[in-house]
Amino acid sequence: MSDVVLQSIVKRYGQTLAVDDVSLSIPQGHLVALLGPSGCGKTTTLRMIGGFVGVTQGRIFVGGRDVTALPPARRNMGFGFQNYALFPHMTVAQNVGFGLEMRKVPKVEAALRVRTALDRVRLGHLADRLPKQLSGGQQQRVSLARALVIEPDVLLLDEPLSNLDAQLRQEMKIEIRELQRSLGITTVFVTHDQDEALSVADRVVVMRQGRIEQDGTPDEVFETP
Ligand code: ADP
Ligand code: ADP
Repeated sequence: MSDVVLQSIVKRYGQTLAVDDVSLSIPQGHLVALLGPSGCGKTTTLRMIGGFVGVTQGRIFVGGRDVTALPPARRNMGFGFQNYALFPHMTVAQNVGFGLEMRKVPKVEAALRVRTALDRVRLGHLADRLPKQLSGGQQQRVSLARALVIEPDVLLLDEPLSNLDAQLRQEMKIEIRELQRSLGITTVFVTHDQDEALSVADRVVVMRQGRIEQDGTPDEVFETP
């Protein structure tokens, strides 16, 4: 079980109070959207969960384990970036397999897992292409496969749809939702787009100036005047 619990998290960058006493409990298998205007602390919160940014104060638990002091590689989380961050000189399969190589997963097993991950995002037929030979939506799927291939306990997605055109955004939103449900993977999804949060998440956490302003189901949050 990999529920995620944030206990009174504070993050300061010098004088800037980026995250100001955030507590949050995300049950195993839920998809929570962190929503709010630019600068409200969404990305910082996501990066603290992933371990890419250290907390100033507070604790983070995953599946009951205190991960606050662990480096990213020891948290078993998949991270999807806004701008894909694919290696341009590596094929799709190599991009997806990179994290497994880092983790010293044996080659045969790694190849199998890469294939499974690519099939999940319907890219099995493009395994040998380079990123630049793919469309934006396909590149985004590679990024998702790369996050999933390590069989993470938690999936962290930072504005995963914001570089896509409207139609692709719609498609990818549904795909991410279906994958998330079928794998039952606890997911935190950062977005500044209210409609996106409403349609994709089980629960929406609205942040403002480093604090949680609202926290509820999409209906609860958007019915509030
Ligand atoms: P959001 O993701 O909601 O746009 P961020 O978490 O990126 O918000 O930023 C929250 C606040 O922290 C902002 O005021 C931002 O300028 C500041 N901030 C973010 N990252 C850094 C950093 N590496 N160094 C200094 N200040 C930062
Ligand atoms: P996003 O909010 O989508 O992550 P930003 O443009 O806010 O994008 O931030 C881009 C990068 O710059 C991030 O790594 C963030 O941590 C860093 N950053 C943001 N605000 C500041 C700041 N005031 N000082 C230094 N670095 C910052």
